[in-house]
Amino acid sequence: MITLPPHLEVHDDRFRALTHPMSKLERIAEGFTWTEGPVWFGDRDALLFSDIPSRRIMQWSETTGVTLYRGESGFNNGNTRDRKGRLIGCRHGSRDVVRTEHDGGLTVVASEWQGKRLNSPNDVVVSADGAIWFTDPTYGIISDFEGYRAEPEQPVRGVYRVASDGTMSLAVNDFAQPNGLCFSPDEKMLYIAESGSSHDDAVPSVIRKFAHVDGTLTDRGVFATIDTGLPDGIRCDSTGNLWSSAADGVHCFAPDGTLLGKILVPELVSNLCFGGPDGRRMFITATTSVYRVFVDAEGAEPWTRGRG
Ligand code: MG
Repeated sequence: MITLPPHLEVHDDRFRALTHPMSKLERIAEGFTWTEGPVWFGDRDALLFSDIPSRRIMQWSETTGVTLYRGESGFNNGNTRDRKGRLIGCRHGSRDVVRTEHDGGLTVVASEWQGKRLNSPNDVVVSADGAIWFTDPTYGIISDFEGYRAEPEQPVRGVYRVASDGTMSLAVNDFAQPNGLCFSPDEKMLYIAESGSSHDDAVPSVIRKFAHVDGTLTDRGVFATIDTGLPDGIRCDSTGNLWSSAADGVHCFAPDGTLLGKILVPELVSNLCFGGPDGRRMFITATTSVYRVFVDAEGAEPWTRGRG
């Protein structure tokens, strides 16, 4: 049996096909406060990521390294791209979800629900029908660290859907703290991370799964339990494996929820995305740094790679 490098931990032999013995875990950017929101822009050949407390969005590319993409980001957290290649971000400061148009203008997608301000949108995905789905926990208003301290106006920490015509609906209302979310490649399943154990030990650190049909969700229970820390950002690959952030690194689960293996990372991981010229690099935001590692899998969101 070929020995794998020490950052790879095999729990199921299927994980070996998703890795490579020569792979290295590289720290490609460092010196930040709390990195989050990685998203690959294939047309720039660059990664964008947030440094939430420093209120900026950074850009990394192989040729130019780290540069500032946007200052005064409003405590921007999670990011994604829609099918037209536009950046969609979650801002704690203004407690909204905002789209960056191709001309650089900003369009607020959602900032309130039933006449009251959102808590602090955290992470976001876009489905094939153009609907924008985002989670709204309270992390950005609990303290002044990554937002502005405030009392929540919403009675729940919701998961919301904004249809392409702008109609907004509350899709799930029973999370302690909903966090990362991602669709299966066929969009028949939406996975949502429960990170409420950050402030309440009684909340299980699980990823829940919801059957998705035409914008409507049906709760299908627990998909997987995170055995170290809690799940924050999550992403599926094109074959339906789910990759989740955890305290010790990135955990990879088969579509049936079996833990296949882990990528061990020396800092607390917040989020991850697929990218690189061939789509087979995983970019991992982890506390003060960003890491890159080869994985023999492509992301389930190919439109993040180009302009769409
Ligand atoms: Mg998050």
